[in-house]
Amino acid sequence: MSFHVMLIPTLGCPGNCSYCWSSEERSPIMSIETIKEVVEWLKDFREDSVTFTFHGGEPLLAGADFYREALPMLAEGVKPKKVAFAIQTNLWKMTDEIAEIFAEYDIPIGSSLDGPKELNDFQRGEGYFEKTMRGYRIAQKHGLSVRFITTFTSYSEKYREEIFNFYLENGWILKFHPALPSLRGDEPEKWALDPEEYGKLLIYLLDKYLENMDRIEVMNIDHLCKGVFSGKGAVCTFVDCMGDVLAVGPDGGIYPCYRFVGMPEYVMGNVYDRPGIEELAQSDAWKLMFNYKEYVDQHCKDCAHIKYCRGGCPYNAITPTGGEIKGVDPHCVSYKMIFDEITERVNNEMFGGPSMEMGFFQNPMKPSKPGIMSLMFKKT
Ligand code: SF4
Ligand code: SF4
Repeated sequence: MSFHVMLIPTLGCPGNCSYCWSSEERSPIMSIETIKEVVEWLKDFREDSVTFTFHGGEPLLAGADFYREALPMLAEGVKPKKVAFAIQTNLWKMTDEIAEIFAEYDIPIGSSLDGPKELNDFQRGEGYFEKTMRGYRIAQKHGLSVRFITTFTSYSEKYREEIFNFYLENGWILKFHPALPSLRGDEPEKWALDPEEYGKLLIYLLDKYLENMDRIEVMNIDHLCKGVFSGKGAVCTFVDCMGDVLAVGPDGGIYPCYRFVGMPEYVMGNVYDRPGIEELAQSDAWKLMFNYKEYVDQHCKDCAHIKYCRGGCPYNAITPTGGEIKGVDPHCVSYKMIFDEITERVNNEMFGGPSMEMGFFQNPMKPSKPGIMSLMFKKT
């Protein structure tokens, strides 16, 4: 995994999605001075190439002038490191001016859309669908690539078929994540997707994907299968992200990941002090992240999936218990379900039985519809 720095220009967001766990009202916006400090900090930090992802809150609240200055500063400032950009935004504040600047740097956009209009607006807010679509059309007009991410909640998972078909009919790549218990609000569990339900949903989407393989790409399933096939996680959730991902908050505070930004107990340093890795490693948050890695080595040592699961996301594991390591990512249940399913299908297709030890040429079974192995050979 290459080095990833998430820049959080603000925690503010014009939306107020019912299940959101991160946005804050009246959050300050990062100054361009802080971007200059990010550049200075990174000059001697690490040798490898770096991907900057703007995240939030809602990063477009920083405005066109911010990006017009920040992008060349970052792209040129940390040379000879290779630099790539990405942004995660709800697109409401997208303008022709911002889209033009992003097009210059070929910035891929990730946005959120929870399915058809009614479903999306029910769980996010009235009028949200149209606001995102408006921004999407502007981005498209400027040739920007936009991928949508769907949050499956305890409510919307009941409409899994509608959501899948919605992506299929629009010809969009499907990427999704489960709603987490909110760290704000009175009913933290209201929208959260139960891990077992999430596991069932993953298996359902695997089947739907195989049925429609030539018409859709389901990114999460590709990543999960790639992990099993290669023995190494393909996304941050399934690798040891600690140390390879850092996030910078609006005031220059450095955190282990964007998800921790705004939680003072997870600050590891500040870009204005230009800390090296050794200094960051002295912080409690850094130590906690690496303690999690050791915990996973022990706790998951007998799990067949440890190499391409790595205990899931440390944020999911650590924050619900107030910063104490009491278990792995609560989605362990879901991960086991889908990894078991994938490995079982691989074994059946390759060896005609449940055990790898049966031998390659014994009892070959030809699946009647595209099997899991077809995902292995699929070009993505
Ligand atoms: S804490 Fe979770 S979301 Fe953040 S980089 Fe690590 S695995 Fe990814
Ligand atoms: S599936 Fe669960 S037990 Fe296995 S490695 Fe992942 S978190 Fe650990």
